Amino acid sequence: MKIERVAVIGAGTMGNGIAHVCALSGLAVSLVDSNAAALERALATIDRNLTRQLARGRITAGDRDRALALIEGGRSLDAAVRAELVIEAVPEVAALKRDIFAELDAVAPPGTILASNTSSISITAVAAATGRPEKVIGMHFMNPVPVMKLVEVIRGLRTDDATTAAVMELARALGKTPVEARDFPGFVSNRILMPMINEAVFALMEGVADAEGIDTVMTLGMNHPMGPLALADLIGLDTCLNILEVLHRELGDDRYRPCPLLRQYVAAGWLGRKSGRGFHFYAPSG
Ligand code: NAD
Repeated sequence: MKIERVAVIGAGTMGNGIAHVCALSGLAVSLVDSNAAALERALATIDRNLTRQLARGRITAGDRDRALALIEGGRSLDAAVRAELVIEAVPEVAALKRDIFAELDAVAPPGTILASNTSSISITAVAAATGRPEKVIGMHFMNPVPVMKLVEVIRGLRTDDATTAAVMELARALGKTPVEARDFPGFVSNRILMPMINEAVFALMEGVADAEGIDTVMTLGMNHPMGPLALADLIGLDTCLNILEVLHRELGDDRYRPCPLLRQYVAAGWLGRKSGRGFHFYAPSG
């Protein structure tokens, strides 16, 4: 199946990046968010990020203008009617994702692939909310999407070969490297990353070092491009907490229990870059 139009559901941190890379590769994109302000912010962010790529000589003015012209914003899931592929990027809450997939299943043509950008939630369970589990798959982009090369492709128990092949091929067409993972909580990436971030928050809570110190140990000492607390701020502390909750609950092991300090920051509205404060402070533009 040729994929020419994609509907991206959720225009937050990930949705705007996914829309950006799809449009830059020449796909028509419907970017949907239930929140009008979030949608407006996302369209402005895409414009700003494309202009930054232009200033760095990575794309031409024609590329930027073409990409912007290919993106239309909307508020309704009806955008799925015209898409060959839907990529869902709403918050990491299983019930919300299941509801959205049931709705998408009702509006999208039977051949449309329904993908989730979930970081940890069972693709098999989300697929079971639809009448087309063989066409439901995980397409886990990394943040920031225009920069990061990996897409983790997650097959649910009932995902078929044609759907997997189409999504692997599309990821390559977007300039990404897809890696297949089985449908276990957190897949590969967050099964390994989140316990490290959580441990860094425990170290902060226990006063082992301050946030700056913890991140510097991991950047200079372990050669990580970013410290775990700065990375948590980039991902969003609410998203990190949601992923840890899934790992803890689904794997049933206390080594994944979210650190109380992480819960406290999320309760305070300190969500990281998107709210201007997390473990570090950020200017309003991020
Ligand atoms: P976010 O909170 O930045 O954005 C979510 C967006 O979804 C918001 O704009 C919100 O208004 C919108 N939304 C909520 N309910 C909706 C609905 N019913 N219909 C349409 N839009 C709705 O979240 P995010 O960080 O972009 O994460 C989205 C997904 O991507 C999650 O599953 C997350 O686990 C995953 N993910 C996140 C990262 C990351 O670094 N943030 C990385 C990889 C994957």
